[in-house]
Amino acid sequence: MKFETRAVHSGAERDPSTGSVSPPIHLSTTFEHGPAGETPHGLLYIRENNPTTLRLERALADLEGGEVALAFASGIGAGAAYLQSLPSGSHVVFADDIYYDFRTIAREFFPQWGLTASMVDMSEPGALRDALEKDTRLVWLETPSNPLLNVIDIESVASIAHDAGAKVLVDGTFATPALQRPLSLGADVVLQSTTKYLGGHSDVQGGAIIVRGADDVFTRLKLVRKVLGAVASPFNSWLILRGLRSLACRVERQSATALALAERLERHPAVERVHYPGLASHPGNAVARKQMSAFGGILSFRVAGGEAAALRTASKLELVVNATSLGGVESLLEHRKSSEGASSTAPPNLLRMSVGLEHVDDLTADLVGALDQTT
Ligand SMILES: *Cc1c(COP(=O)(O)O)cnc(C)c1O
Repeated sequence: MKFETRAVHSGAERDPSTGSVSPPIHLSTTFEHGPAGETPHGLLYIRENNPTTLRLERALADLEGGEVALAFASGIGAGAAYLQSLPSGSHVVFADDIYYDFRTIAREFFPQWGLTASMVDMSEPGALRDALEKDTRLVWLETPSNPLLNVIDIESVASIAHDAGAKVLVDGTFATPALQRPLSLGADVVLQSTTKYLGGHSDVQGGAIIVRGADDVFTRLKLVRKVLGAVASPFNSWLILRGLRSLACRVERQSATALALAERLERHPAVERVHYPGLASHPGNAVARKQMSAFGGILSFRVAGGEAAALRTASKLELVVNATSLGGVESLLEHRKSSEGASSTAPPNLLRMSVGLEHVDDLTADLVGALDQTT
């Protein structure tokens, strides 16, 4: 079946006791067991699993083409749990443009967890090869990346990493499984911040790890989730399941609008550079065409005149909301350097936009209007 159809039906089997079409939310924290702890329904306590979260996990595994998925309380919780599941002494190679708090984890927590990290530009196959060490267990990348929309060739990274005995994790939050399925391109693990497009309405937080095949690290990951506790709540799992139903449709429209906006911004004199993988001028355009079915709803652009001009543009918007996060139905824009703080590597004149479901003409008018007042 096609992705759109699976997005509507995965994990949506009718409730056997009522026939309800929308799944029930099971809020129970505990499930009746036998006198010696026998679990007739395979359920015991909410921190291990619950029926609503299990539905979400089945749906996510299906949509990503993985064997199994685990849902977490947040995207960062999912990623942190995965890293904590690696054997102590492991070395991790990260792409240099990744979600900033994963850089914070590497800096602040890796020494405590007995892990080491390198950051490399993965658009350079040679740089990745040079960074691999004998203890490298994992290569971690984000494509398209946050906030520069760098595109990394998943197939090529996977073949280099696998030759060195390392696994590959792709943070696929920007593309979603609607546009890119890393497991089918050779990656071993996908991370999703379901807070973003999968939830889709800026009203729920969650994360997930989906794996091609369960291995020792995955067994450990289940233990980390249960014992360290970053498990998804039933209500949040339900909201994310609901978001999945319209994912394909939302992302298709958001991608079309983002491409139109990127093309328009590229022609504006107050814009120094537009970062959007769908533009012919983007260095990753050919790879993006190969591994994505459309280019996603996130773009960023650099305003001519530096940081002050970028902040002025942000202040002149009337429709697009100045706010962090992404993937909702409303368009959001932020000055990434301000929101990431002192350790940010975002260019000072860069604005990142998450394109919502408003009409492209209204968004164009708002952006062009703000830029016209900047120059
Ligand atoms: C938001 C985000 C995360 C972190 O997810 P949370 O749900 O906020 O914890 C990780 N990776 C990417 C690419 C993100 O955009």
